[in-house]
Amino acid sequence: QICKRYDTPNTTNVSVLENIKLTIVEGEFVSILGPSGSGKSTLLRIIAGLVPPSDGAVYYSGQEVRGANPGVGMVFQSFALFPWLTVLENVKLGLENKHLTETVKMRKALSIIDMLGLDGFENAYPKELSGGMRQRVGIGRALVMEPDILLMDEPFSALDVLTAENLKRDLLELWTEKKIPTKSIIMVTHSIEEAVYMSDRAVVLSRDPARIIADIPIPMTHWRDKQDVQFTGLVD
Ligand code: ATP
Ligand code: MG
Repeated sequence: QICKRYDTPNTTNVSVLENIKLTIVEGEFVSILGPSGSGKSTLLRIIAGLVPPSDGAVYYSGQEVRGANPGVGMVFQSFALFPWLTVLENVKLGLENKHLTETVKMRKALSIIDMLGLDGFENAYPKELSGGMRQRVGIGRALVMEPDILLMDEPFSALDVLTAENLKRDLLELWTEKKIPTKSIIMVTHSIEEAVYMSDRAVVLSRDPARIIADIPIPMTHWRDKQDVQFTGLVD
């Protein structure tokens, strides 16, 4: 039952999220849709424990989350890579807070780099990579932690259509074929097509304040088989 209120320079206590009650179970890939400014990123940050809710609480595995949620890895729209670090170093950063030996960190990072098709680019810097490759690094940094829950905030919106399609397909393959240990994915997106193509549940938020106005199951196998996704059937 999450509520979030913000103070801004001109107003206090503006309600952004109102009574968001959402249960996400193991195995689900959930999309969160809603108009710009509705509070999608805020909700994701609250789930990650990066921002505290004003009311309500987030539970992960039965435990109330206070501070950073240990179960999540997060992927950002703008990649959020460190430009002065190489691909390998950026990915390894995901393991910074884990008590692992350097050898194990290296092995895990290289395995993720390989899985995401970035082999050969370990020592490249972000500026030497295309947008799609940069986001692969962003995804690698989140996945290397082997998080139970992968949170993605509009992960494809900064990419051109073809690059985005390739990355979506590769990520879906890793997820559906269980090549990554992630148990659930929560993705914020503006695109219904993307939600329908990738996820098996779409949660739609309203604006001012955000409430859940729809929570729709998506018959996955049916849609994923289609190359050319059309969502006309969804509304019926
Ligand atoms: P978009 O689709 O454009 O990314 P969003 O759905 O992700 O939008 P949020 O970024 O979560 O929306 O913002 C929701 C509302 O909360 C907006 O009105 C925004 O101005 C406000 N807001 C977000 N962060 C803060 C903050 N730190 N302080 C004050 N207001 C904030
Ligand atoms: Mg946002």
